[in-house]
Amino acid sequence: MRHRIAVVGGGPASLTFARVLHRHDYPVAVLERDPAPDARPPGGALDLHEGLGQRALDKAGLLAEFQALSRPEGQAMRILDADGTVLRDWRPRPDDRANPEIDRGQLRDLLLGPLDVRWGEGVTEVVPGTRDGVLVQFADGRQETFDLVVGADGGWSRIRPAVSSVTPHYTGVTSVETSLDDVDTRHPGLARLIGDGSVAVYGVNRALVAQRNSGGHAKVYAQFRAELDWHTDLDPTDVEAVRSSLLALFDGWAAPVLDLLRHGTAFVHRPLYVLPVSHTWTHVSGVTLLGDAAHLMPPLGAGANLAMLEGAELAESIAATGPGDLDEAVRAFEERMWERAGRWAKITTAGLERLVSPDPAQALALFDEVQPS
Ligand SMILES: Cc1cc2nc3c(=O)[nH]c(=O)nc-3n(C[C@H](O)[C@H](O)[C@H](O)COP(=O)(O)OP(=O)(O)OC[C@H]3O[C@@H](n4cnc5c(N)ncnc54)[C@H](O)[C@@H]3O)c2cc1C
Repeated sequence: MRHRIAVVGGGPASLTFARVLHRHDYPVAVLERDPAPDARPPGGALDLHEGLGQRALDKAGLLAEFQALSRPEGQAMRILDADGTVLRDWRPRPDDRANPEIDRGQLRDLLLGPLDVRWGEGVTEVVPGTRDGVLVQFADGRQETFDLVVGADGGWSRIRPAVSSVTPHYTGVTSVETSLDDVDTRHPGLARLIGDGSVAVYGVNRALVAQRNSGGHAKVYAQFRAELDWHTDLDPTDVEAVRSSLLALFDGWAAPVLDLLRHGTAFVHRPLYVLPVSHTWTHVSGVTLLGDAAHLMPPLGAGANLAMLEGAELAESIAATGPGDLDEAVRAFEERMWERAGRWAKITTAGLERLVSPDPAQALALFDEVQPS
């Protein structure tokens, strides 16, 4: 028997879940509020770990395609201090496939493949326990019922209130994102600074990180400790005003490093929010959460990896489930997800404290602890 299953969202968690179900010929409705896959810029590249994101892609039958698309050389990492002194210059071995980088758009297209996503179908809420199952309320007023609704709709999930009253809180660290285009031809000095992978510069309560994406594109993240309203006097659409205020915040840093901000195009403000470490809930029949909706954590290379593995694991247990066992399969999945996500939430929360820290030596020490020599 096939259960009526919907997954809300079209991010890494949802698409991996749907793709693994598809591999098992199991139907699923994928409900995404964006009107089309390319409705928004997809964001920076992701590094997918061997035991997490890559394991999920293996379960979806997509590991070989990922290996062909991804950039192992993108694992390279250079660390500088605010004076521009290179403190570490780590490069992966040619055969190192532990954490290769892939552009988010490439990953999305890889996962989408044959999936028939219902674009432009934003969900406003779900109501479990109705006579016909879990009721899904759409933004345009329509309703539909399912046996299981999986909330994979990110940190500000509209599905989460059906199982938990918890909401994300601000970490005290803000990130402002900008981009460099045609970096090799237009900004060769910055291209050398960034190298094949990423460069991270750490100062007191501040960090500047730049990451090479494919096609000569680079993402730059200015991260700093600030009140949530640090920018109230700033018009966020005024690129030059945002640039000047960032340059003032990073005043005194080496000129070649500040060029990352001087040449950035538009700026996007992303205060970093998280859910409490070890967020769990009392199981609600017919509704569960995956990925950021369940465990939004600091962006230290784990969120998409966990989201994808959870999607793959839940899909496999559903595909292996008999008619009456769906609820038990979901319960068992939740226990496993909570345990693993709780561990990573602790690691990434402690990591953010050290990367954007009053003592920049903490960032270097963290790098030395996690990076293979
Ligand atoms: C700067 C930055 C860098 C990062 N780098 C990494 C990295 O290198 N490695 C890593 O593992 N993680 C990284 N992360 C974390 C990673 O981006 C997230 O953990 C991951 O995207 C979570 O996937 P998700 O599918 O759970 O949610 P999302 O990616 O947020 O996807 C949610 C989807 O749901 C849709 N949606 C939202 N609300 C609704 C609704 N009401 N109805 C229908 N659809 C809805 C959204 O449009 C979206 O498509 C980074 C994060 C940031 C901010």
